[in-house]
Amino acid sequence: MQDPLKAYKEKRDFKKTSEPEGLRKTSGEDIFVIQKHQASHLHYDLRLEVDGVLKSWAVPKGPSLNPQDKRLAIMTEDHPVDYAEFEGVIPEGYGAGTVMVWDKGTYVNLSEDESQPISMDEGLRKGHISFELMGEKLEGAWDMIKAKWGGSEKNWLLIKRKDEDASEKDILKTKPNSAKTGRSLEQILNREK
Ligand code: MN
Repeated sequence: MQDPLKAYKEKRDFKKTSEPEGLRKTSGEDIFVIQKHQASHLHYDLRLEVDGVLKSWAVPKGPSLNPQDKRLAIMTEDHPVDYAEFEGVIPEGYGAGTVMVWDKGTYVNLSEDESQPISMDEGLRKGHISFELMGEKLEGAWDMIKAKWGGSEKNWLLIKRKDEDASEKDILKTKPNSAKTGRSLEQILNREK
C-alpha cells in the first residue's frame, strides 16, 4: 500500500522544520483541528481524522457560523494525526510562517447518501461529507461539498448547517487565540524567535 503521507513528507525537510514527521497513530475518537496559519497569506487549515490520517483543506477566509456563507476550502495533502498538536513556527521553506491550534476537538460523521449513512471515505469520494464538531470553539453540524466549478478537483465549500450553533457573529474576531495555549499569533512567533 502506498504511504498516504508521501506527499506530506516530500514537501518537508525534517532537519529544518519542527513539524511532526508523521509517525502514524490513531486515537479512539476521530479528532479535528483548525490551525490558523500566518503564511504568505493568513488562512485556516481544517483537518479531519479519516482512516488514520488528517484529511486537510486550506480555508482562506476561515470557517463561518453563518449558514449563508459558503467558505472555499482547498484540499491539500493528508497530514499525520500528530500534526493536530503542532503549534509553532515553520522556518523558511514549505508553509513557512506561524501556526496556531485555533480549535480542536472530536467530530462525528453525519455523511449520508440518499438518506443512508456512509463512511467519511465514501463521502469524500462522492463529494459531500457532513459532520458534527465538538470543539472548544466550533460546534454543531457542518457540510462540505465539492465545488463543481473552477476546473479544480480540489475546491470544496464549507457550510455551517442551520442548527442551534449557527450564528451571525464573527467567531474569528471574537475568539482569535489558541485553543491549546491561549496565545495570539504574535505571542507564538515571539516565543520562538
Ligand atoms: Mn496552511
